[in-house]
Amino acid sequence: MPHSIEQVVHEQHGNTSGPSAGQRRRNADILTETLPVRRQEGNAGSSPLRGVKRTMWKKAVQNGTVLGLLVIATTARAQDAASEIARIEKQPRAGRVASYETLANRKGFSEKDRLTVIAAFAGHARNLSPHYGRGTSPIDVERWRAMLAWGHEQDPRNRDIAAALIQLLLDDGKTADAAPIAKTFLKESPDDHAAKAWDQWCSRKGKGAPPPLRKFPLHFCVLTRNPEAAKRATREQCVKETAIFNESFRTLARAPLVEFAFQGYSPYAEIRNSKSELVQWGDRQKPYDSGQVLKAFNTCDDAKVRDRGAINVYIVDSYAPRAGFDDKTSHGVRNSNRPYLFIDWERLGSNIQNAEPHEMGHAFGLDHVGVIGAKGTTSTNIMASAAEGFGSGGERDLGFTDSQAALILYHAERTADRLGLGR
Ligand SMILES: [Zn+2]
Repeated sequence: MPHSIEQVVHEQHGNTSGPSAGQRRRNADILTETLPVRRQEGNAGSSPLRGVKRTMWKKAVQNGTVLGLLVIATTARAQDAASEIARIEKQPRAGRVASYETLANRKGFSEKDRLTVIAAFAGHARNLSPHYGRGTSPIDVERWRAMLAWGHEQDPRNRDIAAALIQLLLDDGKTADAAPIAKTFLKESPDDHAAKAWDQWCSRKGKGAPPPLRKFPLHFCVLTRNPEAAKRATREQCVKETAIFNESFRTLARAPLVEFAFQGYSPYAEIRNSKSELVQWGDRQKPYDSGQVLKAFNTCDDAKVRDRGAINVYIVDSYAPRAGFDDKTSHGVRNSNRPYLFIDWERLGSNIQNAEPHEMGHAFGLDHVGVIGAKGTTSTNIMASAAEGFGSGGERDLGFTDSQAALILYHAERTADRLGLGR
């Protein structure tokens, strides 16, 4: 039977008898050097004492070190934690969290090793949530919370554990429970955007204050010379795009987080002779280079190409070596809170996977989240990937969760400041 976390937590608070942890460790250290304990890969049910010679066992009984022996057997198996983690990391992504859950609940692990496993688990769990959509790997929220809460109690400094736990609590609406953990996380990671965002979210909720609804002007610029794109990416369409952003950039409960307003539009004809290096990225027959595009954007002085007081939305014809210009990859970049978007013209009208709010999510500091095994028709979070952050996944039709909304509101303030939009 697996060793449940509740049991572990209970033991933590309980009054354990017998040798102290330090003594147990010393015993184990001494004995592991002298007794070879063979382990069986992946066989949790095998006897921990397999390989210990009968004579040695008898001697140990005589010497009264049976307890010590049992401890080393356990410890020796627990030493597998690192190799087990390495093994799990080689598994297909779809099965990793489940393997970690089983391993973390394995009987006989030392607290230290259980913590190591939970930390590795948290590295994956922080990208997953039942609120992101139903994947092929079920999430037991209660169990995850118990595991992470226990891990956080053992090691409040572990960032993955803290982040995974806060996210789980916030997305379940348990802001009061998340608040003290968010405080600790912020203390340990004072420069982490999520730490600051979640702490702000908790204190705002604590005061019952509604978040300000920031208004962001959008400047559209058609960077591609493709005539088909020109037909589609009209001024009228860009006004519609603004409405799409307002309609889709929302929470799970359909509440808006910020407001967008149409500010300007530059068709290709008006910018084709611009000195801005951005223009060549509209039809560039080379893979997208994020560093070069960023540089071109940040050095752009042409107000028709880049409106410095707005979020700039570029309409491009994406290119990839295999798909050629059929490629429809789009990009959203926060760029230290001077955000811009690259939207492939064929994605206008939100016709494929909700590109608009997805890229805007990146522009407001969000990373991908995972809905393991999501198919094209699976209802998923706007930022969803089929793995844990790789590849596109699902319909991306579910609004932002609270942990994501917190980050959006946090970056909204910074972006408004950076763009000089005032209070
Ligand atoms: Zn993305």
